[in-house]
Amino acid sequence: MREVEKRMRELETLLEYHSRLYYELDAPEIEDAEYDRLFRELQDLERENPLLASPTSPTKRVGGRVAERFEKVRHQGSMGSLSDVFSEQEFRAFDVRVREVAPNAVYCVEYKFDGLSVALEYRDGKLVRGLTRGDGVYGEDVTDNLMTVRSLPLTLRRPIPHLIVRGEVYMPKKVFAALNASREEDGEKPFANPRNAAAGSLRQLDSRLCAARKLEVFVYNVQLCSEPLPATHYDALEWLRELGFPVSPENRRCRNADEAVARIREIGASRPDLPFDIDGAVVKVDSFAEREELGETVSVPRWAVAYKYPPETAKTVVRAIEIQVGRTGVLTPRAAMEPVPLAGSTVSYATLHNADYIAEKDIRVGDTVLLHKAGDIIPEILSVVPSERPPHTAPFRMPTVCPSCGEPVYREDGEAATRCVNPDCPAQLERSVIHFVSRDAMGIDYLGASNVRAMIAGGLLKSAADLYTLTKEDILSLGSGYGEKSASNILSSIEKSKQAGLARLLFALGIRHIGEKAGQLLAAVFPDLASLRAADRDTLLSIDEIGPESADSLLRFFQSEHAQTLLDRLQAAGVSTASKHERTGDALAGMTVVCTGTLPTLKRAEAEALVRANGGNPSSSVSKKTDFVLAGADAGSKLAKAQSLGIRILNEAEFLALIGRSRSNTD
Ligand code: NAD
Repeated sequence: MREVEKRMRELETLLEYHSRLYYELDAPEIEDAEYDRLFRELQDLERENPLLASPTSPTKRVGGRVAERFEKVRHQGSMGSLSDVFSEQEFRAFDVRVREVAPNAVYCVEYKFDGLSVALEYRDGKLVRGLTRGDGVYGEDVTDNLMTVRSLPLTLRRPIPHLIVRGEVYMPKKVFAALNASREEDGEKPFANPRNAAAGSLRQLDSRLCAARKLEVFVYNVQLCSEPLPATHYDALEWLRELGFPVSPENRRCRNADEAVARIREIGASRPDLPFDIDGAVVKVDSFAEREELGETVSVPRWAVAYKYPPETAKTVVRAIEIQVGRTGVLTPRAAMEPVPLAGSTVSYATLHNADYIAEKDIRVGDTVLLHKAGDIIPEILSVVPSERPPHTAPFRMPTVCPSCGEPVYREDGEAATRCVNPDCPAQLERSVIHFVSRDAMGIDYLGASNVRAMIAGGLLKSAADLYTLTKEDILSLGSGYGEKSASNILSSIEKSKQAGLARLLFALGIRHIGEKAGQLLAAVFPDLASLRAADRDTLLSIDEIGPESADSLLRFFQSEHAQTLLDRLQAAGVSTASKHERTGDALAGMTVVCTGTLPTLKRAEAEALVRANGGNPSSSVSKKTDFVLAGADAGSKLAKAQSLGIRILNEAEFLALIGRSRSNTD
């Protein structure tokens, strides 16, 4: 076989392999720019050697495949991809090709959202189906998950008989950063970028998990419409906006290549400040008539092109590899580097995740490294520059003992994380007490992170329970910065926190998988800690939105000696372990109620409190277990789902009547 043919087969195999990781497993091993480079190499070889091109080459197909997990549905209309350009010069060549057919073409220049492409079908103005792009011909039916995307209208402002639009589901940068931080804290593998996180979330089998991921959507195309459309794409998007769709306000009409290039540069410069990730700009011929003339190739249109920005990278030197010990004892290495400007900020640290990650990239102290920002937000080391490695460096080794307490650390089989399991480890103690006192937990306002550190260093705190036996003398003994006034402020806010109630206490304890919401759910069902501690697994699992992970984690926590001592001490110190809501009636005993939309007089939290006070269980997602939905104005997906499941829907007045209150006495 000739060299070139060998290389072509090799590239096909490589691209297949990386596509599978990217589209099906949402866990790419290489950067997009590297994938694009391989793709381009194969395309070039196929152009030069058309007889050697494989009929099933990845260059002839659209992205992913259709996973078995979801129902496979055939798309109506094309769900193709876009051809890419990587420089202004290449873009101008595209413009020349367009103008040969449409000399006066006007462009619409848009953000290229880095998310997951979906087709959304509406009948009589109601969302009936949402599909992923899949392989471009068949997509996966992810309607339930899409219904959890808050920006997606479930009912349009006008009941268009039949409409299919295409859009991009994405995860905002902040949500991505928080998700990865908590995955890391829990010893789970972080997502490579918001796109993979969004794709992984939208393809969860349990829509509650998807709902928790706070996905958003932008709509950018009409695929099919039973009504006549405006003559241009830009106007069609404005029409979609009027129907209630989230359409980017940043679409611009550009009359020629110069204007389009200026806009592409402008978008590129704005990338670091956007709340979501984009990986390029899409330039589309605006007129539908001109598009017809230009036509399509097998998988991409000739009237549009994706301009891909080069990934922003920076070079710097690793000064040290530091180990941080998290609240749950996970040891996380991070690189301390020479500060370097990158995509809008100065970067001095990059997470190194775990031992495998460092070994795979062979990152050593003293190395020169290439950095980028994952998802435009989290600094990450792309690779080491081998030619710039100083002599006599050694591969990095994870410590065998905890850098904070000196106890041996462990790595369980199959887990990437190394953990310190010493419950008295000061680093874990510090992180867990800082969490315990934080605003949404016990809310001990006067105790910030630095006070907690000072108290641990001064030997005053060995457990969160020690907070409740602190005396004024203890605090004054910390020395400068701690006077009578600050001591009494600290003590009174500690005292106040005793009444925080069960929901916040559960969150404050930092139990794995028990966040703020789970704390509230549990406190809504159990009147106090004692009854929760007595609950078995089945009882916990019967609570809507408490899954097996949370239930098992809670049971493990209550069984541990450490937790038993802590809870007993907190109770002995007078920390309330009762749920805060009073039961005023039984009208909703055992019922699961979902509140949605804007109610005329009650706020959502007030309505949910009334549900609890009457023995009911407020839930955030509609399922067959829901007894009724309390719906107000602009109720979206939950109302639609309730209707489709035939669940009873009450308005505020009917709800108040049911619990024996008239509207006048709710004020
Ligand atoms: P693409 O990302 O190059 O472009 C097409 C997609 O752009 C559309 O499907 C649509 O989802 C999206 N899009 C966003 N905003 C849009 C807008 N305003 N108008 C129209 N479309 C818009 O093509 P693709 O086939 O989805 O993915 C290929 C890309 O995936 C490659 O360029 C590569 O970077 C990446 N990839 C990476 C790996 C890896 O291992 N890292 C593997 C496979 C693919």
